[in-house]
Amino acid sequence: MSVVTIERVDTIALRIPYDHWAPKPTFGGIARETMDCLLLRVTASNGLIGWGEAFWGGWQATQAAIEHWVAPLSIGQDVADVGMTARFERALHNFGRSGPYVYALAGLDIALWDLRGKLAGVPVHALLGGRRRDRVAVYASLLQYNGDVERVRRTVDRALEDGFGHIKLHERTAAAAMAARDVAGPDIPLMVDANCAWLPEQATAAVGAMAAADLKWMEEPIWPPEDFAALAAVRRATGVATAIGENAGSPLDFPKMIAADCVDYVQPSVIKIGGLTPLWRITTEAEQAGVTCAPHSPFFGPGYLATVHVLAATARESALERFYCELAYDPCGHVVPIAGGRVEVPDAPGLGGDPDFEAMQKFRA
Ligand SMILES: [Mg+2]
Repeated sequence: MSVVTIERVDTIALRIPYDHWAPKPTFGGIARETMDCLLLRVTASNGLIGWGEAFWGGWQATQAAIEHWVAPLSIGQDVADVGMTARFERALHNFGRSGPYVYALAGLDIALWDLRGKLAGVPVHALLGGRRRDRVAVYASLLQYNGDVERVRRTVDRALEDGFGHIKLHERTAAAAMAARDVAGPDIPLMVDANCAWLPEQATAAVGAMAAADLKWMEEPIWPPEDFAALAAVRRATGVATAIGENAGSPLDFPKMIAADCVDYVQPSVIKIGGLTPLWRITTEAEQAGVTCAPHSPFFGPGYLATVHVLAATARESALERFYCELAYDPCGHVVPIAGGRVEVPDAPGLGGDPDFEAMQKFRA
């Protein structure tokens, strides 16, 4: 078989209008008017296209990293070379050990898995050892309602009506958590994500106040998120299970957080931590340590699909995170439509289906 190489790497930044039925939340200190999405379109020498996705936060810097550094390094490389992104990470290590360059490599890595699946004629989950389930449960990850209990109640009710069987809030008050529990009833798994809201000395009281809401997990209660010892203390003092990992700077942070006895659910983000290659390694290593991987996936492109394949192939079952909002354009919604709070695991070659290239044009940044 002749070698298939990378011929070109294009970036496509999308700004997708959305509605979460409330005033827009802030992100990075400014109003989040759109859901942003940075796609990579990798064209191989045989004409095949692979799709990847890099983290949307501060995407302009990542787009520059791809265009000026990662794309030129990639051209002419063998698509089958599974060591490629690790080699580029080492080559670019002085540019930052996390952040835009690693997000850029995450996008390339995901596109390469898509291409390798397409070349072999198999779904990505088959490259991970095969799927262990036909469907993956999806959790409704509500956006912020800034403590507006009425809106929380209404949106939890809406998510339940839509068939979701698991709910996560991005709220910081016990009143909001209790309201969600009240609407959901006792049997729905409920999670709360505080996005690093509290200093270590504040966190035990804040998390303890939510314990009555019977949380499946409390996510990122502590600032800074690297303070594993403080998180372990909160977990011990409150008895509430914890989740962290979306802000980990390196795959090597995961064995450290597990060793610190601070986490029940690790949450690597495929579009931040370097791609599907490290996500799969983190997932399997966590399982060997008795910890469940519940990946971060509030994004809508090929990174979302990559996460579905990992959740299909992994031993310890976990639900898929889905931002709960209406999108003007859903890049991969046609590949894995949500029905009854679940998605079917795609079996088409690669990630299972491409984003609609024509439809995305009017949302380009
Ligand atoms: Mg989170």
